[in-house]
Amino acid sequence: MKLLEALATTPGIPGREHRMRELIRKHTKGLFDEIIEDAMGSLICVRHPRGKDGKKKDVRDATKVMLASHMDQIGFMVKHIDDKGFVRVVPVGGFDTRNLFARLVTICPDPREPKKDITGVMNPSGKPIHIATEEEKKKIPDVGDFTIDLGMSADKVKKKVKIGDMAVLKAPVTEVGDTVVSQCLDNRIACWLAIRAMEMVKETGHDCEIHCVFTVQEEVGLRGALTSAYAVKPDIGIGIDTTLCVDTPGVPDDLRTTKQGDGAALTCMDSSVINDYDLIEEFEAVAKKHKIKYQRSILARGGTDSGAIQRAAAGTRTLTFSCPTRYIHTVTEMIHKDDMHACRDLLAAWLAQVK
Ligand SMILES: [Zn+2]
Repeated sequence: MKLLEALATTPGIPGREHRMRELIRKHTKGLFDEIIEDAMGSLICVRHPRGKDGKKKDVRDATKVMLASHMDQIGFMVKHIDDKGFVRVVPVGGFDTRNLFARLVTICPDPREPKKDITGVMNPSGKPIHIATEEEKKKIPDVGDFTIDLGMSADKVKKKVKIGDMAVLKAPVTEVGDTVVSQCLDNRIACWLAIRAMEMVKETGHDCEIHCVFTVQEEVGLRGALTSAYAVKPDIGIGIDTTLCVDTPGVPDDLRTTKQGDGAALTCMDSSVINDYDLIEEFEAVAKKHKIKYQRSILARGGTDSGAIQRAAAGTRTLTFSCPTRYIHTVTEMIHKDDMHACRDLLAAWLAQVK
């Protein structure tokens, strides 16, 4: 939980993943043979084939596996500060504005330095319910209608905040029943899964060459995964991400995508990719052998890193490996612990058997 908590409370919008890189480097000491930071900022962490004893294995033409966990989160960039000191932002990634009312936010004037972070309050501009007309109450605002109040004079705000600064929603990581709830489990859960699965294959040994990539700028169009896939040129690419779990009231069963507690989701397709048929079957066979819960899924709309990896260079066999998540893109993203563990165990078991 400590690692997941650190990952989910460290700000990093697309293009401002500086603190995430530092955090991941800190928590992966001894796991990788080399760590390369590419021009866009993705971290490419390589582990050569190794036995149980940790010794390098001499595998000829080892299969190159790329795991892609995007480390960015949806957030905002400051676009304007008005004469009263109210801050306006643009979204970086897809927000449902109905979830943005009355939120605490953090503005990060320095992507590297948490000490300079400033807390603010986000609300839509306009009248409160007491004095709003019926027409005004019905309106769903755009992100551009929201302002951030930093509780300071305009002069003070302008000294501390500038155009292009990162802003993120502020919410804690909380255990609720058998689940974990937080903002940006999309996609810090995948960073957690990749690190934990690597720790497990370190113990079992593996014949494949693993390129564990923490990609940037996924939320604005799978950008970092594309460039890092060109750098790695993998034989197999696994995009690790959250997927919809709308097994909740008000949604018909055929739209639920996944079911909470039913295990790791093997996504057959989404709008960015149709995944490799044999890979899906291979994961299923490994899951059955190790008695790990899994489910197949299809995401009607939305893309993931595997969509970019599949089409990089001369093409790659891919699978989208998903963790069922309720309330995605809100500050209460919810994941069942059994699903977290099923994802981790299945990923590790699959890596350990790749020839
Ligand atoms: Zn995601």
